[in-house]
Amino acid sequence: MRISFIIFVFVVLIQAPSCTQPASAGEREQPQPKRLQLEGNYASYQPLFERYDRYKEPTIRQRRFKNADIVPLLQKLGAPFQVMEAGRSIENRPIYRVQAGQGPVKVLLWSQMHGDESTATMALFDIFRFLSADDEFNDLRQRLLSELTIVALPMLNPDGAERYSRRNALGIDLNRDALRLQCPESQLLKQTRDDLDADWGFNLHDQGRYYAAGKKPKTATMSFLAPAYNEAKEINDVRGNAMQLIGWMNGLVQAYLPGQIGRYDDEFEPRAFGDNIQKWGTSTILIECGGMPNDPEKQYIRKVHFVLLLAALDAIAQKEYENTDLAAYEQIPFNESNSFHDLILREVEIDFKGESYLVDVAFQRREVAVDKNRDYYYRAEISEFGDLSVFFAYDDFDGRGYRAVPGKTYTRTLGNADEIKSLDALELLRQGYTSIRLRDLPDRTKMDYFPFKLLAPDKSDDTRISIGNNTSLLLKKGDRVEAVVVNGFLFDLKKDAEVIRRLINKM
Ligand SMILES: [Zn+2]
Repeated sequence: MRISFIIFVFVVLIQAPSCTQPASAGEREQPQPKRLQLEGNYASYQPLFERYDRYKEPTIRQRRFKNADIVPLLQKLGAPFQVMEAGRSIENRPIYRVQAGQGPVKVLLWSQMHGDESTATMALFDIFRFLSADDEFNDLRQRLLSELTIVALPMLNPDGAERYSRRNALGIDLNRDALRLQCPESQLLKQTRDDLDADWGFNLHDQGRYYAAGKKPKTATMSFLAPAYNEAKEINDVRGNAMQLIGWMNGLVQAYLPGQIGRYDDEFEPRAFGDNIQKWGTSTILIECGGMPNDPEKQYIRKVHFVLLLAALDAIAQKEYENTDLAAYEQIPFNESNSFHDLILREVEIDFKGESYLVDVAFQRREVAVDKNRDYYYRAEISEFGDLSVFFAYDDFDGRGYRAVPGKTYTRTLGNADEIKSLDALELLRQGYTSIRLRDLPDRTKMDYFPFKLLAPDKSDDTRISIGNNTSLLLKKGDRVEAVVVNGFLFDLKKDAEVIRRLINKM
């Protein structure tokens, strides 16, 4: 009863569809569900969630940061850490090794071997601050540092982070370089594992936002894998321990991300680090952070990751995972790739060559990097089209009774964005205008979540409803425009009238 109430509250707070997601940096929202509670054997970790703000590294506030941002943080880490530059990337950026504890069980954590996957790096810096503190969690710290030797390689791929790209400067995916070891970053990871002879390995990544956890309308906000170490996918003690720990972790993290946990297929990938490190005798756990409604900068996921990693380290220290059945691992639903879209308009009518058709139209919003990869704007495109009944959406629009028609470009060309304020925006949208030409375009990060598409004077708009186009749509009942889709964002002209006004005035 209690749990279902908590889940209900969570779902209301987190999953409520919203078309008011700000898109530009600096005002990205994050949910703060406060009533979530760990129970039973996990209850002792709840205070970590509640006191999280005390440990959150304040200089890292969003996903896109670089090696130069974390080096000063690493250099000023004091006790209980030993910090050393462990190697250099191809472009000569330093990669640091952070060590704490003198325990017999050796744990290696590495993050961001893919440069655009930074959630765990954020969580590691929060954990560094936690381990440096002196407060009511001293018992936990003491236990971790006396039972474990913890070694972390935060941001293994600093050149990729510089570009916010998966691959390193050479263009190699480090996670396919575990055997050939051509890159200094891969060599460093292998060397660190071998020198430490790690008992446990945490392989920390991010996955795309469009995975579902099973065949349900829940995003895979976190996914796990205990990688196979051979083609036969056998389970020895090394891999079995990893499976048990994942089963234990899943029990914890479900409280914060109910139904939002997936599991990767365990097909053996002979070139990948996770698979090989498992083979080399280190119980290896892959954690992938995915998408979640209203958390575009993954700050809520970061907080959950902080709690999860500390609790997992403690479960290793106390051998708590040994009580978990392998079935707890196997019951985690598989990740379903490309199940989600940002917006789906369900069962709208469209016209084509004089005939009428019933279709679903899906949009996904891609990030386009600006400001040397420190920021981005969204560019939406129609990502699927037709019968999309097997797909899910962050925003789902019941389009029955609506006709979807491409929007029009306003007949006058304006000087700059300020002049839009003098127009009656709602009236323009009612008349079917969704694009405005401007001689002087504002910063793109300011116009990606906006009720009009802003175009340069010589640019024409996408006016065909087809895959790959960023077509603006009018959703009409009879002759009346009730809602519009602009850059993959839905604006209801009644319900969102205030939002529309605010966005125009802010421009
Ligand atoms: Zn990755």
